[in-house]
Order: sequence, then C-alpha cells, then structure tokens
Amino acid sequence: MLEIKHLTVAIEGKKILHDINLTIRTGETHALFGPNGSGKTTLLMAIMGFPKYQVIKGSIIFKGKDITRLPLDERAHLGIGMSFQRPPVVRGVKTRDLVAACLRGRETEESIEQLAERADLADFMDREINYGFSGGEIKRSELMQVLAQKPELTLLDEPESGVDLVNIALIGELINKLLDKGCHIRARKCMGLIITHTGHILDYVNARTGYVMVEGRISCGGDPHEILATIRAKGYEECIKCMMENVPSE
Ligand code: ADP
Ligand code: MG
Repeated sequence: MLEIKHLTVAIEGKKILHDINLTIRTGETHALFGPNGSGKTTLLMAIMGFPKYQVIKGSIIFKGKDITRLPLDERAHLGIGMSFQRPPVVRGVKTRDLVAACLRGRETEESIEQLAERADLADFMDREINYGFSGGEIKRSELMQVLAQKPELTLLDEPESGVDLVNIALIGELINKLLDKGCHIRARKCMGLIITHTGHILDYVNARTGYVMVEGRISCGGDPHEILATIRAKGYEECIKCMMENVPSE
C-alpha cells in the first residue's frame, strides 16, 4: 500500500504541491488528471525520490515503511518504478543493456527477447536508448523497461502523450500486463498511479479512482469516468473555478 499524508513539496524553494493526501492499496489503479503545470509530474518525481523535489512537510509511506527521506535507488529496490513523461535519449547505451539491468537476474521469468516481442521492439534492442525513436516507440520502450523491473508500485506519467491510436492500444496492453490486470484485484501484487491529461488511456486501462490536481492541490476525487466526462464537457476551467471556491486559506 502507498500512503501519502499531507505532502508539501518545493522545487528550488518554491512550493509546488500543497497538503497532498492519497492512498493506493495493492491491486488498485488510480488516475490523476489536471491541467498543464498543475504539479502532476512533481508528485510522481517526489514519490520516486528525485532529490530536486524537496519534501517540506508530510510523509510518504510504502509497504508500511516511511520512505520520505529514502534515496531514489532504495525506493526502486523496495519496488517503485516509473515511466517518464519525456524520457531522455541516452547515447552510447543500447536499449538491450538497460533492459538487462532492469531485469536484475530475473531473466528466467521473462527473457529480454520476450519483453522486446511484447513491446513490438524486437528490432530496436541494439539501438541507443530512444535515439531516433518515434513518440510511440519511446513510450513502448519505457514500459518495456518498467516491465523488466516489475515494480509493485508503477508511476506512469502521461503514457499516451505523443502516441498515435495504433500505439495506444499496445501501450494499454503493456500497462495492463504491468499492473496484473489479468488477475482478480485480490490476487494482484501491484498497484499503479497513472497521470493522464486527456484521459485516453482509460479507454484501455481500468482505474478505480480518479483525482483532479489544480495548482498543486488535489481538488476532488471520485469515479474517473465521471470526472473525465465533466472535464471533457466543461474543461479544466470548471475544476479551477470549483477549486477556487473550496481552497482553504493558509
Ligand atoms: P504537470 O506535470 O501537471 O504539467 P509539473 O509538475 O511539471 O506539472 O509542474 C508544476 C509546476 O512546477 C509548474 O509551474 C512548473 O513550472 C514548476 N516546475 C517544474 N519543474 C521546475 C523546476 N525545475 N524549477 C522550477 N519550477 C519547476
Ligand atoms: Mg507533467
């Protein structure tokens, strides 16, 4: 289980997130919506433990352990994985070598070749990481790496951004595999938090709860499809208006 309590996060001294509360239980998938610049990526980076994201207040509890001050690599070892919104190009490193590092000796469960096949990237494994890849290929490669890692908590930052319709179905399949969606919720060993600006990925991946983030605060939570229908009908302006009416005074 992941429990985020009263989390306030700053970047270079500037407060970006304010008093975030969020609980995800094993087996569950939650979706986070929000306009650009609202702090969605910041929340994922803070959960993963990137040092630039300073926790000013609050805590992050994962599997009963307080990880708020734990370095990023220890969080990864505990079972937290992430796919980035805009993954970097890494020259001089083959995709195959990164996937092998992510597998960390679990090749017996799924080989590099099987993972490549699953992500439809068999011909890309000897190419440098993301170098000259299309938007869809980059996202598939990201998911292939996270699949190799097999984290208990997967953080997905806009997995469908820059991806065409054919790729989005395959991306949905990879996420469903990653989150054990083939099993009953009680049999699953993992959980996920998916950031989606457009909500398109929810046509392929089921989420239990959705939240809207506005100006660094979670403004509401509920049925993700209902939230999405409201956003599609009225735009994020309505969320901002609603948030302004309910914002607590500091
Ligand atoms: P989202 O993912 O919802 O689009 P982000 O979490 O990327 O939003 O950004 C939230 C806010 O934090 C934005 O106002 C952004 O400009 C600011 N921000 C992000 N990274 C930095 C940084 N390195 N330095 C200063 N401000 C930043
Ligand atoms: Mg973002």
